[in-house]
Amino acid sequence: MNELEPVDIAIIGGGMVGATLAALLAQANPNWRIALLEAFELPAAGEPIYQPSFDDRSTAIAWGSVTLLQQAGLWDILRQQATPIHQVHVSDRGHLGGSLIDRHQAGVEALGYVVPNTWIGRTLLSHLHQLPNLQLLAPAQVGRIQPVADGARLSLRYQGEEYSLHTDLVVIADGARSPLRESLGIDLAVEDYRQTAVIANISLDQPHQGVAYERFTDEGPLALLPLGGSVQGCQSALVWTQPSECVGELLQASDDDFLQRLQQRFGYRLGRLIEVGKRDSYPLALSVAKEQVRSSIVIMGNAAHFLHPVAGQGFNLALRDCAALAATLKQNIPGERLGSLSRLQQYQQQQQLDQQLTIQFSDQLTKWFSSSALPRAALRALGFIGLEAVAPAKGWLTQQTMGSAGRKVIL
Ligand SMILES: Cc1cc2nc3c(=O)[nH]c(=O)nc-3n(C[C@H](O)[C@H](O)[C@H](O)COP(=O)(O)OP(=O)(O)OC[C@H]3O[C@@H](n4cnc5c(N)ncnc54)[C@H](O)[C@@H]3O)c2cc1C
Repeated sequence: MNELEPVDIAIIGGGMVGATLAALLAQANPNWRIALLEAFELPAAGEPIYQPSFDDRSTAIAWGSVTLLQQAGLWDILRQQATPIHQVHVSDRGHLGGSLIDRHQAGVEALGYVVPNTWIGRTLLSHLHQLPNLQLLAPAQVGRIQPVADGARLSLRYQGEEYSLHTDLVVIADGARSPLRESLGIDLAVEDYRQTAVIANISLDQPHQGVAYERFTDEGPLALLPLGGSVQGCQSALVWTQPSECVGELLQASDDDFLQRLQQRFGYRLGRLIEVGKRDSYPLALSVAKEQVRSSIVIMGNAAHFLHPVAGQGFNLALRDCAALAATLKQNIPGERLGSLSRLQQYQQQQQLDQQLTIQFSDQLTKWFSSSALPRAALRALGFIGLEAVAPAKGWLTQQTMGSAGRKVIL
């Protein structure tokens, strides 16, 4: 078997989280030798990207995350295709009440931004290609991680040949299924929501004005996020949660039929829905790894926690994890291994509360608003009226939406 040059940090998975972490770590210490290993082939800088993480979805990036992306040197490019969210309108189909969260109340220029995943991918890739201390290995499929006394040894297939790679620290960011996490015997706590998200880009007959809509229906939540690079854009990104058994029908419906059903569910707040792009579906569950750190090993991103997309928190939370890991590793003292368990535990302790709060927030929101039972529905209406009237409750929701409730990560 061929032997690759040893590295200090190997990141497995070049999706949104692995690639962002690579950028943050490379910047945190230019002396660290870092390898990013991705199973899919990566295009040259500037070429169109295909990879599951960077598909036709868009990601709502919270205000708090923008600061982290700025510090990572990514935001100036990302913002070229980012649509600002000026207001979030939360409503409940068929019930009284509704809540408007406004950027002015929060005292910020935008509550967050919506960025197409393909643009996030292109931005990340062209940035990573320029980092002298980062090696991009693709297509590289890691098959095995073997913990050893001074780190970990990876077995991988790289450009058709078998290799071995020694690393001080390995970060597993290989997605929600994460066969590598499983191969280490790390269990997941899973709750299957029996819901599936259908995503597509929707063309509108009027500008969205920078308003993101979150509408709760008896079938599950439905979100339409502003797209197009400005508040004058006439496109929104749809995330339509449905009971899993209903999704096949929605995916196969003609465009006209699909738009008609969506219009009926959502109403006319965005005017007439006139065109639908490619539709995709994502089965939804809450899954959380029961261990996130071991000596020389960290689990990140969807491999560590996979959330319902209802509140747009998955990537935002992972980004705070990435920043916290980079900041913790930066504190290493001479002679200390990067994979030192006590250092990695320090990272985990720092992120524990943020992870717990964010996971609970997404989970509770999903459950509160996915029920059609009458007493519950009445409570939801009351909840919304209450939310509108009770400033602290609304303040809390705003903070969660902006990704800044009681958390601060300093790089
Ligand atoms: C419908 C939907 C909407 C969402 N909207 C939002 C939102 O608005 N805001 C938000 O914050 N979050 C959102 N999220 C969550 C966000 O998409 C995830 O947090 C993010 O995609 C996680 O990325 P990841 O890199 O951890 O995993 P993945 O995207 O799954 O990437 C894993 C990568 O690892 C690679 N890989 C796998 N195995 C190996 C191996 N053995 N060797 C090498 N490479 C390997 C894969 O090829 C892949 O590139 C949404 C999620 C969904 C489903």
